[in-house]
Amino acid sequence: MFDVQKIRKDFPILNREVNGKPLVYLDNAATSHTPKQVMDAIVDYYSNYNANIHRGVHTLSQEATDKYEAARHKIQNHFNAAKSHEIIFTSGTTHSINLVANGFSTLLEKGDELLVSAMEHHSNIVPWQMLAERTGAILKVIPMSIKGELEMDAYVRLLSDKTKLVFCNHISNALGTINPIDEIIQKAHAVGAAVLIDGAQAAPHIKADVQKLDVDFYTVSAHKMCGPTGVGMLYGKEEWLNKLPPYQGGGEMIAEVTFEKTTYADLPHKFEAGTPNICGGIAFGAALDYMNDIGFEAIAAYEHELLEYATQKLLEIKGLKIYGTAKNKTSVISFNIEGVHPYDIGTILDKLGIAVRTGHHCAQPIMDFYKIPGTVRASFCFYNTKNEVDVLVEGVKKAAAMLK
Ligand SMILES: *Cc1c(COP(=O)(O)O)cnc(C)c1O
Repeated sequence: MFDVQKIRKDFPILNREVNGKPLVYLDNAATSHTPKQVMDAIVDYYSNYNANIHRGVHTLSQEATDKYEAARHKIQNHFNAAKSHEIIFTSGTTHSINLVANGFSTLLEKGDELLVSAMEHHSNIVPWQMLAERTGAILKVIPMSIKGELEMDAYVRLLSDKTKLVFCNHISNALGTINPIDEIIQKAHAVGAAVLIDGAQAAPHIKADVQKLDVDFYTVSAHKMCGPTGVGMLYGKEEWLNKLPPYQGGGEMIAEVTFEKTTYADLPHKFEAGTPNICGGIAFGAALDYMNDIGFEAIAAYEHELLEYATQKLLEIKGLKIYGTAKNKTSVISFNIEGVHPYDIGTILDKLGIAVRTGHHCAQPIMDFYKIPGTVRASFCFYNTKNEVDVLVEGVKKAAAMLK
């Protein structure tokens, strides 16, 4: 039995009021809230063993190093990576993607092709455009249907022996579509291309198994899955991480430095220059523990119930249109009301204590595809309730009546 009321007690922020109304937080696709258990890990770190890692002989440094590396192992186990050094700590998905895109500068030639899906977040578009500019590689787009599903036949036609890399999100933050990444990865590998999957939006909902997927790179941001901001991970297959050059130079990533020549440290340190977000990494591990204690199957089942309920209730509102109606989708609902600007709806909802996102959701090409300026996006987490869905629906009805 999924006890949402018990779970809500772990999230102090859910008790606050906004504009005199109980907070209804439906912006989880932008960032999720932090349970007490994760905050406790943060306080414990700064209260008891704050120290720089990997360098000190003293006790605090050793304790901090042990806990940080233990967090790396938790992440490894969670995503089922074969080796712990295939998990690189980063500041989040954006950093992870830039690290890989930068590395491929040395591996691409003019005329090589890169395939990007039509429903990417800007952080899975722009670093590749920059790479294409640097190398003369060509960026091609895998189209999507009006439902917000990738056109897999077109994808297969785009693949050739020129294709070097394919990148796609596991779940779209703007539409909620769960992409068929197994198939995307298999087909890319058949022509010898590597695949990076942006897992930022999937990790809060689905436990990905990187070995089973046979994915080359997978990226996650902790703050979307009950962890703090400023920390995340890049999973990379060992063979790829060995091929890529370091991203940043500095302390921690070296084996030996002289003014003539520097040799680099082994994985994962080669990609972890400077003092990392030690506390953040440890808290990321605590967030994974927290979510695994609830269980990803239970989370997925409950969120699916919320999605179905909210979809049905919202569609009862006259003039409301949902963007992203893929068969396989998660608890993200993007919508508009005919004749009303999404920003105005968002502003009225905020007055009612309801937090939604409005705008292009860092995915302008999707908005261009639908020929709209943006949408209102309600994204649900496992701590949301059907009662909150009702409050949202009433709020949207009120906003629509005021604005029409
Ligand atoms: C949030 C998000 C990102 C960017 O994550 P950051 O934490 O801002 O680096 C990238 N892709 C998707 C699908 C996202 O939802």
